[in-house]
Amino acid sequence: MTIGPSPSADDGTDGVRELSQATIERIAAGEVVTRPARVVIELVENALDADASRIKIEVTGDGTDRIRIIDDGHGMARDDAILAVEPHTTSKLGGADDLRRIESLGFRGEALASIAETACLKLATNDGTEVGTEVTIQKGQKTVSDIGRARGTTVEVRDLFYDRPTRRESLATPAQEFARISEAVARYALVRADTAFILTHDGTETFSTSGKGRLDALIGVYGRDTAAASTDIEYGTAVPIKEKNRNVQIAGRVCYPSITRADRSHIRVGVNGRPVKNIRLRDAVADPYDSFLAQGLFPVAVVDLTLPPIAVDANLHPAKERIGLRDEDAIIEVVREAIREALSTADLRRQGEIEMDLSSSLRPVENGSDFSETEFIGQYRDLYLLCEDEDDLLIVDQHAAHERINYERLCAGLEEETVPSAELARPRTVTLDPGAASAAASYADELRKLGFAFQPFGGTTVRLSSVPAPLGRTADVDAFRQAIEALRAGEDPDFRDDLIADLACHPSLKAGESLTRETAERLIERLGECQQPYACPHGRPTVLAIEEPTLARGFDRDW
Ligand code: ADP
Ligand code: MG
Repeated sequence: MTIGPSPSADDGTDGVRELSQATIERIAAGEVVTRPARVVIELVENALDADASRIKIEVTGDGTDRIRIIDDGHGMARDDAILAVEPHTTSKLGGADDLRRIESLGFRGEALASIAETACLKLATNDGTEVGTEVTIQKGQKTVSDIGRARGTTVEVRDLFYDRPTRRESLATPAQEFARISEAVARYALVRADTAFILTHDGTETFSTSGKGRLDALIGVYGRDTAAASTDIEYGTAVPIKEKNRNVQIAGRVCYPSITRADRSHIRVGVNGRPVKNIRLRDAVADPYDSFLAQGLFPVAVVDLTLPPIAVDANLHPAKERIGLRDEDAIIEVVREAIREALSTADLRRQGEIEMDLSSSLRPVENGSDFSETEFIGQYRDLYLLCEDEDDLLIVDQHAAHERINYERLCAGLEEETVPSAELARPRTVTLDPGAASAAASYADELRKLGFAFQPFGGTTVRLSSVPAPLGRTADVDAFRQAIEALRAGEDPDFRDDLIADLACHPSLKAGESLTRETAERLIERLGECQQPYACPHGRPTVLAIEEPTLARGFDRDW
């Protein structure tokens, strides 16, 4: 182990010590304190590393005036507190070898020193002894005194960037700087839901969480309505990482597809308790929602991965928000699977309030049951199928329902390499543009898997002899052209899904088609067999429900 020169470095205790030059050189360098939110993040991380169960964050103005963070963690002994504010001193890292198995949020021993360099820093701490310690650093002057304080640490930062006018000028408005702080605290509060967080701005509480788990954290950050529409996820499996099977655990709380946001920033991912910005991990959470959500909408979710430390490189980025993952592809796939599973097995029914108003109580049904007990009553406007389902009146959109059925069949077909297809009575000759023609030739296999059979017919013309025929309805020539275009566009890994969704749409029942009772019943039965019966592939609902009490209330009946 590489050992620093401080007196406590050799004894293997947990005290604060100075890192060796060799270790310092291997730490991702960069400016730690770039704006007030970074100060908050560093201090929150220190409190979490000290096993705090409650962290209060007070911010005045844009944060340069004053930031104060109070924790009830294990605190510091006097010697440690005095040393901790010096550069490259830490209790969290022994030597360079430890960089490969970091289990704490901090490890560089730079934050307190960097903050003290450009602000007035006051540290009040007690590790459970009779007298606490206060260390103040103002313009390079360090003073130490006794202080009465319960176990824990309070760090106060005033006049941030007092000696860096350009830094100050580059800051945004106080509202914007505070928004960054608030977002950062929310990230930690959601990922570290066993710790209580309280955030105040100019003396007013912005939000707080109870430290009693993810549901409570969601309530604190997003409010009751959003939190109520969420479900726990729990998933574990062994994954080959660095040539060995290692355990990957995924836990979290994800909102139902009914809760959406216009960007991905409400997908919070933690790795070993550290909130991280990793686009692939975030997308792995978002992707399984694709077929439930309209384009441009994203879910709200908190997902925490527990990985063996060997799988994680936390030492990539000065702000430590970006991390490296070893055998990333395998880990990404586990995340996808965990979310997929949650979305298909969760009891997605939302317990809505009984509404007087019929229109607002039409809600998409989201439960896990099939429709075997559902009775078809009749068709309305050649589009909606009315059904009785135990206590509820269900209204099925026949087009959306049919799209969902076709979509799942096509997906299944692709996996089994047998999309149901139909031979055309008379093969159609289709003339393609030159690019499409060569794409058709090079993607012949893919097209066949999708249910298209065709032969070259001279020049850029092909003879189309079979087309996909989910549910016995045939796709048309346009679908063939679209499939080729989608395959040409190729790069996008989602193209297959989009393609399938489009294909599913083409031959689906349209509004205005009147159905026989038999067809309607079969449609409902098939819908019930779908893995995700409650949304069409484009994310629109397939089924709405009106509960009986709603009708009773509407008609002034007792219920
Ligand atoms: P790092 O977190 O990378 O070790 P810091 O400069 O943030 O570096 O902190 C230096 C040391 O001060 C930490 O290693 C820890 O021992 C101690 N420390 C800082 N903040 C706290 C706190 N809130 N509670 C207990 N110890 C703390
Ligand atoms: Mg730190």
